[in-house]
Amino acid sequence: MLTDPKTEFEKLLKTISEKNPDGDLDMIKLAYEFAFSAHSGQKRLSGDDYIIHPLATAQFLAELKMDKETIIAGLLHDIPEDTKITLEDIKKNFGKEVANLVAGITKLGTLKYRGIARYAENLRRMFVAMSNDIRIILIKFADRIHNLKTLEFLPAEKQIRIATESLEIYAPIADRLGIGKIKGELEDLSFKYVYPADYNWIMEILPKKYKEKERYLEKVKKRVSKKLLENGIILKNIAIHGRTKHLYSLYRKLLRPSVNKDLSKVYDLIALRIIVPTMADCYSTLGILHNLYRPMPGRVKDYIAQPKPNGYKSLHTTVFTENGEIVEFQIRTIEMHEEAEFGIAAHWDYKENKGNANKKSVKWLAELVKWQKQIIDDEQFLHDIKLDIFQNRIFVFTPTGDVIDLPEASTPIDFAYHVHSSIGNQCVGARVNDHLVSLDSKLKSGDIVEIITDKNRQGPNIDWLESVKTSMAKSKIRTAFNRLKKQ
Ligand code: MN
Repeated sequence: MLTDPKTEFEKLLKTISEKNPDGDLDMIKLAYEFAFSAHSGQKRLSGDDYIIHPLATAQFLAELKMDKETIIAGLLHDIPEDTKITLEDIKKNFGKEVANLVAGITKLGTLKYRGIARYAENLRRMFVAMSNDIRIILIKFADRIHNLKTLEFLPAEKQIRIATESLEIYAPIADRLGIGKIKGELEDLSFKYVYPADYNWIMEILPKKYKEKERYLEKVKKRVSKKLLENGIILKNIAIHGRTKHLYSLYRKLLRPSVNKDLSKVYDLIALRIIVPTMADCYSTLGILHNLYRPMPGRVKDYIAQPKPNGYKSLHTTVFTENGEIVEFQIRTIEMHEEAEFGIAAHWDYKENKGNANKKSVKWLAELVKWQKQIIDDEQFLHDIKLDIFQNRIFVFTPTGDVIDLPEASTPIDFAYHVHSSIGNQCVGARVNDHLVSLDSKLKSGDIVEIITDKNRQGPNIDWLESVKTSMAKSKIRTAFNRLKKQ
C-alpha cells in the first residue's frame, strides 16, 4: 500500500493547528509545494513518492511542537543533497534561518557510518551542528526515525549500518538531551536489526508475562486512585506505563548480572505512573503509597531533589502489594512529565523562549565542542567521547553546594579540571566529605569535594592520565603537560 502525499500533508496541517494554533500555515503550504516539485519523480525504495519522507519528518517535528522554521526545514531537508535546487534558492524563498537549519542537516548527511575514523568524524560534526543550533539535531532525529521505520526496504548490510549508528550514536545523544520519547523510538526501531536473535527472544517471553501483570495492575490502580482521592490529592492522571514500548531498555536490564535474564526480576516491567498537580503532591502521594504498601528497601529514588544528569525528575518507589506482588510507581507533575518525554524540545516555546532551549544541555554541548576541537587523534577522541556520553553519571558537590555532574568513577582530579583548568593544574590534594583522600580515589554521588591547591605548583602530573575519567581532564592535562615540556 502506497502512502498518499495529499493525505499526509493534510494530517501535518491538522497537527500544526492543534499544537500551535497561531502557526502560519501559508508558509508551510509553500514549503510543501516547493519540496513536492523539487523531489517530483523521485521514489523511496518502498515505492512511495520521495515527498513522503520529508512529510514524515515534518510530521514528527510538528508533534514535538517545534516552531514553523523547524517544520519547514524538515520539509526541505533533503533538497540540497538530492535535487538540483540549491541552498541559495532555499534562502531566497524561505529566509536565512530556514536555510541555516537545512545547511546544518546537509552537512551531517554526507558522512556514512563506516569504521572508526568516520564514526569519530560523524560525532564531531553532530556536536558542532548541535552547538550551532540545537534544532538541527532534532530535525536529524526526525529524519532518522522515519528512515528506521522504512528500513525493511533496504539491503541487509545497510540496515545493520544505519541501525547500529542509531543505537550507538543517536540514541545516547537523545538521552543526554533528555528526550526520552526520541531515545525510546530510536532504540526500539533499531533493536531488531542490530540484535535480531535477542529481539526474537524478548518478543517470545514478554507478552504472556506482560498480560498477567497488566491485569493485576488494573486492580492496584483502582485501589490507589481511591486512596489518593480520599486524601485530597487531585489526580491528573494515573496510567499503566508498559515496557512494550521500551523493549531495548528492557533488554539492557535483562542483561544486568543481578537480573540474569530473569524477567520476574525486572520490577518496572510495568509501572504505575501517577501525575499530580504540584511537587508537594508528589511527596504526599509517596507517603500515602508507603502507608498503603510496604516499600522495598533501597528502591525509593528521589529524582526531584537530585534529578538525573539529563534533567529527568520523578519520585520512584517499588512496593510489595497485598499478595506479595512487586509494583513500581513513578510520581511526577505534568511539567516533569513533559520534560521527561521531550527534554530540550519541551522548552521550545513559540514566543517567549525562542532560542532559549534548555540552557544546561546547551552549555554542556558548548563545552564538549570546545575541547573536542583540541583533540586531533580520532581514536583518542572516540574513546574519550564514548566515556563521557555513554556511561552513567554521578553528582558531586562543591563546598559551596554547587552540583557538578561527572561520569561514574571520576576522581578528584576530574572534579578539579571540571571547575577550572588552573584548579586542576595546581591541585596537590583533595578532601572528600572532610577527609583527605588520594587523588586517584573514586568519587560517589553526593560527595562534597574540596580541592587543595598550591599556587607554586608548575602543572599536572602525567600519571594522572591513568586515573582520570573525563575527556575534559585528559585533554587539559595533555595540553598543560605539553606546554611544560616546551619550556
Ligand atoms: Mn532525509
